[in-house]
Amino acid sequence: MNVPFLDLSIQHRLIKDELDRVFDEIIGTTAFIQGEQVERFEREFADYVHSRHAIGVANGTDALHLSLRACGIGPGDEVITAANTFIATTEAISAVGATIVLVDMDPVSYTIDPAKIEASITPRTKAIIPVHLYGQPADMAAIMDIADRHGLLVVEDACQAHGARYGEKRVGTIGAVGCFSCYPGKNLGAYGDAGIIVTDDDAIADRIRLLANHGSRKKYEHEIEGWNSRLDTLQAAVLRLKLKHLDHWNVERQEIARRYTEALAGSGVRPPSIVHGDHVWHLYVVETPDRVALSAALSDQGIATAVHYPVPLHLHAAYRELGYPAGSFPVSERAAGRILSLPMYPGMTPEQVDHVAAAIRQATTIVAAA
Ligand SMILES: *Cc1c(COP(=O)(O)O)cnc(C)c1O
Repeated sequence: MNVPFLDLSIQHRLIKDELDRVFDEIIGTTAFIQGEQVERFEREFADYVHSRHAIGVANGTDALHLSLRACGIGPGDEVITAANTFIATTEAISAVGATIVLVDMDPVSYTIDPAKIEASITPRTKAIIPVHLYGQPADMAAIMDIADRHGLLVVEDACQAHGARYGEKRVGTIGAVGCFSCYPGKNLGAYGDAGIIVTDDDAIADRIRLLANHGSRKKYEHEIEGWNSRLDTLQAAVLRLKLKHLDHWNVERQEIARRYTEALAGSGVRPPSIVHGDHVWHLYVVETPDRVALSAALSDQGIATAVHYPVPLHLHAAYRELGYPAGSFPVSERAAGRILSLPMYPGMTPEQVDHVAAAIRQATTIVAAA
């Protein structure tokens, strides 16, 4: 039995007929930029997360970058985020000329450790970017409390957690601004690059809209110097159709996660834990003392795996100048050597989950015996 890491064709089959019709319509009118599909998706996504505004942008990296810019973050400001995130989070900080300040993660939730945020705050700190990594909300109660006490802005990186609930809210609507990527493999994925920003703040929303469209409200009138980061019209059409399925796809992910966790009890790997709010399982990440052997054994059984992420940000050549030597973030560093992401996608069958779990049990027995 083959188990791919991800199979997007299952999602496509559900929307294909309607999508063919909408694509024909858009292509027939040759109106490829902005328009009704984008406006409707923005409204539908805002309603879905219960925020006042949603602004479509070109990708999740731009969502973060333009949010920071719209909030006035710039040179001389420090922005705190987790050492174990994807580089897009920190690229956005550098893009506005601010300084990246990294903090270690919590070893159980894999999200930023609030106790360590507090210790990293200086008079220059302006914002915190919690990342809802793997689909699990960060410890937002603690983070919002720290932010309130120190007058800091919270910009949520919800790029892996579309639809996750935290208390009464959906992630992205707890801080001042929430950023989503709709990269194809994300929980709400387009057929190319796409992103969306949500906020309840009218002024921030207005500023983001201006920035994302060349600083212009009216064609060829530029109020400020902006950027080109619009949500593509064809992608908006895909996202509108997929948004209708997001909740049931997330429930499917939760069922798959539950089945994995049950089947892996007592095996040689540590299954992930649900710590804050509900988890929408963008990734199902286990820890194992011998990742190389385990991923090879799974590959031999036709099972694809991945690692998110093999190297914490501070140990990349790109960030040598930040001056964090190895050992700076021991929790992230230790986890980076042990984590393994298992196949996880809506449409994955119970038989496939059982096959992966059985292969893990078999492989970890062999590794332990060797
Ligand atoms: C995917 C992702 C991004 C960036 O999104 P793109 O759409 O690829 O630019 C940012 N942060 C995290 C945590 C992500 O997973």
